[in-house]
Amino acid sequence: MAEIDRMLEANERWAESFPGSKPVRPGRKVAVVACMDSRIPLFGVLGLEIGDAHVIRNAGGVITEDVIRSLTISQHALGTREIVLVHHTECGLQSTDDISFADAVEAATGRRPPWAARAFTDVDQDVRESMRLIRESPYLLSREVRGTVFDVTTGRLREVQEA
Ligand SMILES: [Zn+2]
Repeated sequence: MAEIDRMLEANERWAESFPGSKPVRPGRKVAVVACMDSRIPLFGVLGLEIGDAHVIRNAGGVITEDVIRSLTISQHALGTREIVLVHHTECGLQSTDDISFADAVEAATGRRPPWAARAFTDVDQDVRESMRLIRESPYLLSREVRGTVFDVTTGRLREVQEA
């Protein structure tokens, strides 16, 4: 069975207890930028309910031009002010480096990606780099950002202190 079929079936049951529509503006005025990792159930991890927060995810939870686009919309159009970062232990981006990854993509497809994978080794440094990029963005109304690392073994969230 294709995954989409299992998902459509699961949704039938899940929607029975769906609470209904909420305001489009996130109730807790917060945007979360997190890694796409399959082991981080963000709503549970952060105690979020439907309608509480924007959630922006990508590989690594890194700050890209498109993340800035989403955060800018989140703040200017939809009223969020705080930004929370969630990176994590055992990230897939720690198992490669930008050059090796681009080499592998080029070897497999004949095309070298114009973007960097944004691999890293030190997760705390990676969180600090993301906080720096947010603070440097000229488009945001609020640069109130704090960063965390989620431990995929314990389920615990640890705040990263500024260097
Ligand atoms: Zn990750």
